[in-house]
Amino acid sequence: MATPKNSKQTAPAEPAVPAEPAVPAEPAVPASIGNGFPGKLFSYAPAPESPAAAGDIASSYGHFIGGEFTESAGKEALKTVNPATEQVLAEFAQGTEEDVDRAVKAARDAFPGWAALPGSERAKYLFRIARIIQERSRELAVLESIDNGKPIRETRDVDLPLVAAHFFYYAGWADKLEYAGFGPSPRPLGVAAQVIPWNFPLLMLAWKIAPALATGNTVVLKPAETTPLTALRFAEIVRQAGLPKGVVNIVTGDGRTGAALTAHPDVAKVAFTGSTEVGRSIARSLAGSRKKLSLELGGKAANIVFDDAPIDQAVEGIVNGIFFNQGHVCCAGSRLLVQESVQDEVLDALKRRMATLRVGDPLDKNTDVGAINSAAQLARIRELSDIGEAEGAERWSPACELPSSGYWFAPTVFTGVSQAHRIAREEVFGPVLSVLTFRTPAEAVEKANNTPYGLSAGIWTEKGSRILWMASRLRAGVVWSNTFNKFDPTSPFGGYKESGYGREGGRHGLEAYLDV
Ligand code: NAD
Repeated sequence: MATPKNSKQTAPAEPAVPAEPAVPAEPAVPASIGNGFPGKLFSYAPAPESPAAAGDIASSYGHFIGGEFTESAGKEALKTVNPATEQVLAEFAQGTEEDVDRAVKAARDAFPGWAALPGSERAKYLFRIARIIQERSRELAVLESIDNGKPIRETRDVDLPLVAAHFFYYAGWADKLEYAGFGPSPRPLGVAAQVIPWNFPLLMLAWKIAPALATGNTVVLKPAETTPLTALRFAEIVRQAGLPKGVVNIVTGDGRTGAALTAHPDVAKVAFTGSTEVGRSIARSLAGSRKKLSLELGGKAANIVFDDAPIDQAVEGIVNGIFFNQGHVCCAGSRLLVQESVQDEVLDALKRRMATLRVGDPLDKNTDVGAINSAAQLARIRELSDIGEAEGAERWSPACELPSSGYWFAPTVFTGVSQAHRIAREEVFGPVLSVLTFRTPAEAVEKANNTPYGLSAGIWTEKGSRILWMASRLRAGVVWSNTFNKFDPTSPFGGYKESGYGREGGRHGLEAYLDV
């Protein structure tokens, strides 16, 4: 686990040593793995990525409007901190209504020229952006880890390759829109207002900006207030690629800026990714307007393990499903539904595997679980976990020393969870897994669908027919079988029910930005 000693933030209050007799006190993994538990032969040496690779971080940032970095009309500045150390990284502007208005005007002015370009010309810019992202991927990966707290292994191997892939993919569509199935000459909408969350800052930016530009729209994007740095660095890439001024504008700030942007009368399209609560308020504010809206909201996915599943593989999928990106994943497999007959076997294997997870420095290439993104998110995870215990579920975390500064939460599993428990119903958005059991496939479907959300689900079984039977009954936008958290730009992503509407990714993702 994490190296620093004298932890003042500790794993949750329950005993750090596994309470259940089925789990050995010293997990039966090879000692040579050496992950900090007693009996180890050796530990991995620290393998830190250099923070200098992130390039220069300015002490303060304005907005990126009309191709230039500009001062805000207001005086208010916000700070972004490194969640692993609590050190302030930079100040950035709290966007005012005037700032938003300037950005929307710049995007409106740029729209006719951009929309009139042949698709093959727009594609060249997108390809150029994709290639620059690849060239600067180490810099962007390190910057993302520093600003967000996620492990460098993930930013380097997951986020950045997917960011580039989205730009490459939609570059390929730009000159083929008339063959995309939306009529012979699909038209762009105009200015797209795009508001994104903090859990995959650059990836969510790519999901929004790449299809919007490919289809001939111009954009004003607002990054989340805890993770603005990679969006601001992306603005430099936009300039490096020679994109016409005003086609991409970045305005920073908190929810007030987001609300001003989505409410602006001159935007034709609103694309929002974030919480269901804010999504609902945006939908209300847009009712009666002619703006096109897509919402990518929260989730409470079921990861369903049948008794015929390859257990070791399923355990890897469970771990990836809930501990990837500290569980800050809208489609996280936060509810494990395990068939009763293999419950003990799965839980024993899961706990052994959890004991090998390294929690700590996001810039260490050996880290599996990084820092929680903000103090506010940590407080929410703690609160819901405490409620889980108070409601009677049994809480377990591996022995785990957490760094003394920064925001940390040990990987946690709750057993004995009932469907009525709040940890089974509400999105924790952290490394917290709730375990429920089932006996029959029909019961698994019923429990999996018993949620206000419907973003994703996972099925683990060797029977192909069962996969198809389950998948056709699960009310979830994405259903993975014998894998989890796999993303691809060619594949549409989106939700049912309170997880939102509209699809991002794939051919479907074009529709959100076309007048069809
Ligand atoms: P959030 O809703 O608090 O914030 C998201 C963004 O909206 C931020 O940029 C924020 O500044 C802005 N915002 C806040 N209030 C606003 C308002 N009134 N009007 C306009 N914009 C406003 O959510 P969060 O805490 O940043 O992100 C976590 C949530 O996002 C989780 O619920 C998660 O499931 C969801 N999420 C969903 C997806 C998906 O694709 N479905 C992807 C990532 C995250």
